[in-house]
Amino acid sequence: MELAIDYTCPQCSRRMAVDLRTISPGRIRYCSHCKTPLVLSEEALHNFSHSLQQLPLG
Ligand SMILES: [Zn+2]
Repeated sequence: MELAIDYTCPQCSRRMAVDLRTISPGRIRYCSHCKTPLVLSEEALHNFSHSLQQLPLG
């Protein structure tokens, strides 16, 4: 299963799913559309938490 976090562009409101494995602390993602630095929204974290709970155990 692949884990991704949905980043939301504050400028154009586009959503981009970023593979968790490519995320590292301090690394800034940019919107592929308008090149604005992306921010993690509360909703994105909520959705990510939800997908974590759906991971099969073991
Ligand atoms: Zn954008």
